[in-house]
Amino acid sequence: MSYLLEADGLAKHYGSVIALDGVSFSIGKGVTGLLGPNGAGKSTAIKLFLGLIKPTSGSAQALGELPYESIEVRSRLGYMPEHDCLPTSLTATEFLVHMAQVSGLPPAHARTRAADTLRHVGLDEERYRAIGEYSTGMKQRVKLAQALVHDPVMVFLDEPTAGLDPMGREEMLALVRRTGGEFGISIMLSSHLMGDVESVCERIVVLEGGQVVEDGQVSQLTRETETLYVEVDDRRDELLDLLRQRGLDTGLDGLSIVIDNVADEGYDTVRDAVVESGARLRRMAPQRHRLTDIFRR
Ligand code: ADP
Ligand code: MG
Repeated sequence: MSYLLEADGLAKHYGSVIALDGVSFSIGKGVTGLLGPNGAGKSTAIKLFLGLIKPTSGSAQALGELPYESIEVRSRLGYMPEHDCLPTSLTATEFLVHMAQVSGLPPAHARTRAADTLRHVGLDEERYRAIGEYSTGMKQRVKLAQALVHDPVMVFLDEPTAGLDPMGREEMLALVRRTGGEFGISIMLSSHLMGDVESVCERIVVLEGGQVVEDGQVSQLTRETETLYVEVDDRRDELLDLLRQRGLDTGLDGLSIVIDNVADEGYDTVRDAVVESGARLRRMAPQRHRLTDIFRR
């Protein structure tokens, strides 16, 4: 497959600060989370993919091009920046029409797209009021709308839930999910909140101190770290010994044997050990971890 984004040895230094330390990863279609604490390098990575800043070394490709060299690629990308950047005296409609035209849409088409996009983000009557009068939640939705108004192939949403209360945050995440799902726009969502990423992303890249520390499908990450609960009617200690001899990470929780980090082959090992021990199996139940649990370690 061809990738939408590719970082290859991508590094960005600001003076003596190393914001990105030579990272390599590729992103395909779908909704990808860029997760990491403050200062991890998330916003820097996004700006590099957009071509807004130039790498110190290595390369960032978006849609198969080097965005720093090809300005044209930017018309097929959308960007919701992290910080407040909205003109306070314009109405949302005026701003959106302007942004659509800047991206190359003819005036009539720009007006239609602006209206459709504002409806998509749930701004109705308010769209004729000056943005300066908006709540934080409404401003975040205008920021999202301007990223989508020119119908991009992919959008970068940099901390879209920042500053929102729990309800506003849920609404924003639902909107992001719909944008990726119904509208089929690929998304890179950056956040320092695991919960944001867990609830909307199929794939995550975790950055820490300018380096990639985890990279994979969310379902894969949660599956590989499954915990298995096994209950037997008898011969529990024999079974426990056999499991440990086979190198499984085994403990006890009440009457259950608890086996951590069971991957696919782990299940065969457990089955063989149960057979060999002669124990009568009562119950075997996997419990999948949430991302939040995986990254607590
Ligand atoms: P994140 O978005 O994950 O919080 P950033 O990409 O904004 O991280 O920042 C990564 C590091 O680079 C931080 O240490 C930050 O202070 C530094 N940094 C970011 N932008 C600049 C800049 N324009 N000048 C100097 N240092 C910067
Ligand atoms: Mg940031």
